[in-house]
Amino acid sequence: MDNIGFVGLGIMGRPMVKNLLQAGYPVTVWNRSRPGIDECVAAGAGEAASAAAVAKTSDIFISMVTDSPDVEQVILGDEGAIEGLRGHSVVVDMSTISPAVTREIAARLEVLNVAMLDAPVSGGDAGAIAGTLSIMVGGDRKVIDRVRPVFEVLGKTITRVGPIGAGQTVKLCNQVAVAGTLHAVCEALVLAQSSGVNPERMLEAVGAGAGASWQMSNLGPKIVDRDFAPGFMVDLLQKDLRLALDAAQDANQALPGTSLSRQLFSALQAIGGGADGTQALIRVLESLGESDFKAAAKRR
Ligand code: NAP
Repeated sequence: MDNIGFVGLGIMGRPMVKNLLQAGYPVTVWNRSRPGIDECVAAGAGEAASAAAVAKTSDIFISMVTDSPDVEQVILGDEGAIEGLRGHSVVVDMSTISPAVTREIAARLEVLNVAMLDAPVSGGDAGAIAGTLSIMVGGDRKVIDRVRPVFEVLGKTITRVGPIGAGQTVKLCNQVAVAGTLHAVCEALVLAQSSGVNPERMLEAVGAGAGASWQMSNLGPKIVDRDFAPGFMVDLLQKDLRLALDAAQDANQALPGTSLSRQLFSALQAIGGGADGTQALIRVLESLGESDFKAAAKRR
């Protein structure tokens, strides 16, 4: 079995490492802070002192960190993977970052004969725990085939969407659709509420028709219950919408709806909702009218 190196042991990285260990892969990890390392070592992972040291022991080096500069740091920076990678190894970045930065990193690695795939995911921490992520992969078909058994441990749907960078572009398309749909669901809820219609009945009726969506069926009931605990955090969605708008600008394409959704999420961050789940967007829409879910929830 390939030796796996894994860097970035946060909400997503930790369960992904555990699933790889469970499937029998030898996994060596490094993380910037201690708790992620301790949890993975307790589950059977080996520990290395830096991303470079992880790369030295790895056939497949996986990164699952936050944003473009973070991936640049753990792959190309001081004590980054580039200092330890060998000619036959493959780098797989599963973070959500810029497609353009992804292509730049891949070009730097290609000089060393190291192949790279971008393989961002959708499905949240629940998908990471269950090993049912949707993985959107960009890169060479032969390299994807080599890494496929590893992807099959982490996810249920593995789709090659094009050359290197295309995985990130498709992930950003996903986030554009997520933000726009959630924004629409929140507007439907405040319309029902401010018009005196029970929002639960609205969700039931609309959710069975052409207005149905994942956002409506999964987040609608949480909004009605005022459960703003994060499945997916506002700050992370804002990072993704920034990346989507940058990518759109690079492609000479306007995304007016995404810009508007991003502004509304900025208003939510401004009132302290950055660490809330994305469904907390309802708070901003409520402030634009007279609907009051809190009072209505108490009345029911
Ligand atoms: P997270 O819990 O914040 O974890 C991020 C990890 O990256 C942490 O281990 C952090 O180290 C590490 N890291 C960040 N910057 C670093 C740097 N410059 N150098 C070294 N390590 C660094 O985030 P997450 O939820 O696991 O998300 C990881 C990626 O997956 C993100 O790109 C996110 O957009 C994407 N994603 C997340 C979800 C989700 O539902 N959470 C779903 C799909 C995709 P520390 O532990 O030291 O902070």
